[in-house]
Amino acid sequence: MISKEMYELGSKRSVIRELFEYGKQQAAIVGKENVFDFSIGNPTVPAPECVKEAMIELLETSKSDEIHGYTSAQGDFEVRKGLADYMNNTYDCQLKADNFYMTCGAAASLCITLKALTASPQDEFIIIAPYFPEYQVFIKNAGAKVVVVPADTKDFQIQMDLLEKSITFHTKGIIVNSPNNPSGVVYSEATLKSLGELLKRKSKEYNKPLYLISDEPYREIVYDNIQIPYVPAYYENTIICYSYSKSLSLPGERIGYILVPDCVENAKNIYTAICGAGRSLGYVCAPSMFQKIVLKCMGKTSDVALYDTNRKMLYDGLSKMGYQCVRPDGAFYLFVKSLEESAVNFSENAKKFNLLVVPADDFGCPGYVRISYCVDPEMIKRSFDAFQKLRDLYR
Ligand code: PLP
Repeated sequence: MISKEMYELGSKRSVIRELFEYGKQQAAIVGKENVFDFSIGNPTVPAPECVKEAMIELLETSKSDEIHGYTSAQGDFEVRKGLADYMNNTYDCQLKADNFYMTCGAAASLCITLKALTASPQDEFIIIAPYFPEYQVFIKNAGAKVVVVPADTKDFQIQMDLLEKSITFHTKGIIVNSPNNPSGVVYSEATLKSLGELLKRKSKEYNKPLYLISDEPYREIVYDNIQIPYVPAYYENTIICYSYSKSLSLPGERIGYILVPDCVENAKNIYTAICGAGRSLGYVCAPSMFQKIVLKCMGKTSDVALYDTNRKMLYDGLSKMGYQCVRPDGAFYLFVKSLEESAVNFSENAKKFNLLVVPADDFGCPGYVRISYCVDPEMIKRSFDAFQKLRDLYR
């Protein structure tokens, strides 16, 4: 006997992966240049020069165990100290090295945090649609229940009245993600203020802390001079799950962190439980050399201007054709209303023109497709004809 649940999870590929694999097969038939693959969120803008420079310097000047050895489980002290200094300068907060726990990217940050917070199978975590599909997997794996608050398809902010109704005595936390995958929307200051007020009120009503988990892998991928604020400034019980996968274009290197500020209720105990969860999940430590690389690249990002060019080209191009697109202020996704009720059928029809767009059903938001624009701008230009043909199919 093996785990039925794990077997099912392993045998079911995500829709994104299915499309990505289909794209590769199709490229072998019709040629790579004739397939317009907007399926996956793999950054194409190269990592900034500082990554290469740091890597070379570390390789040339460090002893093997300094860059390839185990670090302490919560991460190298100097790295966490550097992170605290960087965050204090950027967000005017008072963090210390011991508020940070280095991880293997945002997925690990989330799994560890959820495991650390879950105390009973009745615990519930609320996610706001549209959401990153893996949240479902991570919450269930932590042994808690998922509660979904439906999307606000007006402006893709949070429907506070529905969120309020979803909070019960069993609610342990809420996961938010801004800039958002898949909508590209950034939560406004008004949203963050109302969210903070609501969570404070509900914590008082139930006489227990409600934890806000802010999943921030796209924090620096924002346009038109938008700044993503320090979320604990709006609500003290906030734990930040961060990753360098997108900001430094390093998704395969698996590096990120969890930040538990002192203002979080029970911060010390939560941090200790995070160390325990990391241990029980077998993470041991985050990649040693990449911890040191991110320290040397603090505050740097990949060239977001290149994503901005793609964003404008796609948003303007598709809007002109009559597609209804949510205007993205961050991340590298365009969220487009399907031209028929079923986004799954719409995505199938798009395949007829070798256009690969992801139906958002698995993101908890049927009727939309996600277009991932971290792609070569030349592919976007070549794809417009296919988008036009798809549009014409529905006239
Ligand atoms: N959270 C969101 C919203 C994401 O989009 C992703 C990756 O696409 C992750 C978490 C996982 O990121 P990582 O590669 O750092 O594990």
